[in-house]
Amino acid sequence: MNLKLTVSSVIVCFCSYLVETEEIKRFQSVKPLFYNITFELNFEQLTFNGYEEISILILIPTKLIEIHSSNIQIQQAIFCQSNNDFIASVSYNHRAETVTLMFEEAKGQNGILKLSFSGVFNDDFKGFARLHFTEEKRFGAFTKFQPQLARKAFPCFDDPAMKANFSLTLVVPSEMIALSNVPIVSSEIFNKNGTLKKVSFFQTPKMSNYLASVVIGYFKYVERHTKHRKIPIRVYTLASKLREVEFAADVSSKIIDYFETVLKIPYSLPKLDIVAIENFTVAGMENWGLIMITAIRLHVNDASSILNKRRLVSLLAHEIAHQWTGNLVTAEWWSDIWLNEAFACYLSRICTFALFPEWKVIDATLDEVTSPAFNVDGLANSHAIVFDVWHSDNLTTAFDSITYQKGESVIQMIANLIGKEKLFEAFTVFLKRHEYGNAKTNDFLKILEEISEIRVEKVISPWLLQRGYPMIEVSEENSSSLKLSQQMFLNNGQLWRVNESAKWIVPIVYKESCECEKKLLLLERESAFISISNQIILNNEAYGFYRTKYSRKMYEKLSKSLKLVNRANRFLLQNDLFAFTKAGMFSTVEYLQFLNAYNEEDDLNVWQSIDKSLEEIDLILSNTKIQTKFSTFVKNFMNTKLKSIGLKIKTDDNLSTTLIRSIIFKRLGLFQEENIIIEAKKQFELSVKNRNQTLDPNLRQAIFCTVARNSNEAQFRNMFELLIRMDYKRYEERNDLVQCIGHTVRRNQIKTLLNFCVSGDVTEQEASIIISAIAKSAIGRKIAWNTFIKNKQNQNRLIKSKKYNNFITSLIKKYSSENKAKKIENRFKKLNPRAKASIVENIRIRAKWLERDYVKLHDYLSRF
Ligand SMILES: [Zn+2]
Repeated sequence: MNLKLTVSSVIVCFCSYLVETEEIKRFQSVKPLFYNITFELNFEQLTFNGYEEISILILIPTKLIEIHSSNIQIQQAIFCQSNNDFIASVSYNHRAETVTLMFEEAKGQNGILKLSFSGVFNDDFKGFARLHFTEEKRFGAFTKFQPQLARKAFPCFDDPAMKANFSLTLVVPSEMIALSNVPIVSSEIFNKNGTLKKVSFFQTPKMSNYLASVVIGYFKYVERHTKHRKIPIRVYTLASKLREVEFAADVSSKIIDYFETVLKIPYSLPKLDIVAIENFTVAGMENWGLIMITAIRLHVNDASSILNKRRLVSLLAHEIAHQWTGNLVTAEWWSDIWLNEAFACYLSRICTFALFPEWKVIDATLDEVTSPAFNVDGLANSHAIVFDVWHSDNLTTAFDSITYQKGESVIQMIANLIGKEKLFEAFTVFLKRHEYGNAKTNDFLKILEEISEIRVEKVISPWLLQRGYPMIEVSEENSSSLKLSQQMFLNNGQLWRVNESAKWIVPIVYKESCECEKKLLLLERESAFISISNQIILNNEAYGFYRTKYSRKMYEKLSKSLKLVNRANRFLLQNDLFAFTKAGMFSTVEYLQFLNAYNEEDDLNVWQSIDKSLEEIDLILSNTKIQTKFSTFVKNFMNTKLKSIGLKIKTDDNLSTTLIRSIIFKRLGLFQEENIIIEAKKQFELSVKNRNQTLDPNLRQAIFCTVARNSNEAQFRNMFELLIRMDYKRYEERNDLVQCIGHTVRRNQIKTLLNFCVSGDVTEQEASIIISAIAKSAIGRKIAWNTFIKNKQNQNRLIKSKKYNNFITSLIKKYSSENKAKKIENRFKKLNPRAKASIVENIRIRAKWLERDYVKLHDYLSRF
């Protein structure tokens, strides 16, 4: 599913917090077989009435049936057996989100539950939600059921393991388009004056109820067909935006062809619809045959940046991959959700690479997948990929970076251990063996064992079943051998010795010199020795999910011969060293000195990683006297590269050069480099005066950020008015503005933006992106804290605007002092406890890092 919308390009689906409930209830005594449901939707009152018949199998004789239901009024419940109807009494358990139906004792195994009920459309994207058509000032509706929200639309056995067939019917206004998982079987006039129609859909295959889905709205569509089996792919959006979904339609049909070929299993349904959802809180949702994509991501045009096109293809490939992994075969419970999500992430990357090799998405894995997974999994409160989900809080956690990004990293390890062909063979066997059913992690591991000669289960299980990851420490034992030892690494610098209950079998691929053959060592014990002849780099293909710590002497040697090190290892060397620096194993000065070896670096992902590290150092220094000195260091470092690639875009620039320029432009602009400010303002003002003079899409964010950081009153007003005027017709430009405008450091401008954030002109996601940029500066954090945390009235406005959780999280996660860590720990009871604990832990790590390194940094930076 369901990819979280974040500032970064990383795809994570699920984000909204769930209702706080007690233990999650799973039912064992009945098994649903078939749901026949009719919804009558009232768009004037924004309500619905439902009638459903659920054919069930009674596994244990009983006088009562418990069923999930939340925010729904049940008007009547009848239990029918052998053509006898028994009226059931209904008692609600609101906290557990269930109702209990009491009736005469069931005599046989088969029965039908007949329920009539009603509910309202909500604006929280849970269950039956309102679909906004802002431009046309009217509403439609759509469903969002993952993970356990179907119960808000109809009483059901809301459990992914309880698969059933669905037959849906909708009564809706005649002028509206109605879509569901499968095609329409009939559509007829429902009332005398013809204002309503009754639309019935074919029966679905067996599926988990969170995948059942409908959308009703005012759409037009673009249609394509797959090449091999001519399956119709339709992309639905507003009539005015049709041209901007042509790319999505073209690509989606190719993605289906690709997956049918590599997975050797045809797409299971007769059609696929993809629908633009305005202001969707997640990037996408993979409902079977009816994928929903947030409008801001789905539309691209000639003015779109390469990164946005790339994100769209990855997102479509992720949701389409789910049609197999997730929909055809579904994780048995949320504990095994990596089988849906990590598989979809991996398949999406492979597919995007196959369709657009020039985008080099495989190269981006270290920056977009491995590195963020390291950061989250190095926290003390991390969890295993496969873990116990029994409470709504755990359920939120199940859709985090560990599931998606560490999960994808583990699949990559498997691919490298057994080979990509074998892995795809395993996917095919797995999908065929469990089609239309559910599976657990062990089912997949068993298949890997069957088709591979390596003891995959033994090697891979520890990466799935225990939290954290190892750091391999390399020390020179003597001139001919190295000692490798594994310890569990934590971001805060604690190292845990591995033991029988917590250790990894670490696949270490290494070369003794740049020319010779690769060797594989499976490090099973706490330590091992390997022989060396020359310089040695571990984790040669960079597919092992571990960090490598070399000795100071080895780092020195490596920095002198960095040109001989491959791209992936150049990434890991600095990325690992930065993590060790934050953890206190090296000083920030040592890290900055090591960076000097990188000023001729030409790999985009290495630059991205370095830029993030420099941004984080800037964050801890943002309230100190040496921040200006640090910015001088960064300017010197980056200007060397900028001189070699040039500030102006050239026609023969490759993708990497184009995007490295954008990274450097933005950082230098934020650090107030004079010539960058002049260039950015010149281009911005030209584009304001003449709206046909559009900014280069790949440089647009860098320009907006530079102007925002260095604007005078008139320039800020121009920028702000542009944002207000820029409605959802220009999604991409608006998104770039939202990402950048919060970089201002002027008091009145920050206040204007904070007021804007609680207004109705900005969505929850946009507000949290704006505050995220504001919170990067010390003055921004101070004003935002005083405005929304000290001032009760404003806090209530924020709560009322339904933006509280994301907004507060984006603000508080930027602090770097023990004082604030304590305050945050004792407040914000409404935040998810695990998310809050991670924020506090990160703040404490930064606070200690600053305290430890400040004097050394002060001395070092004084020379710049
Ligand atoms: Zn997903």
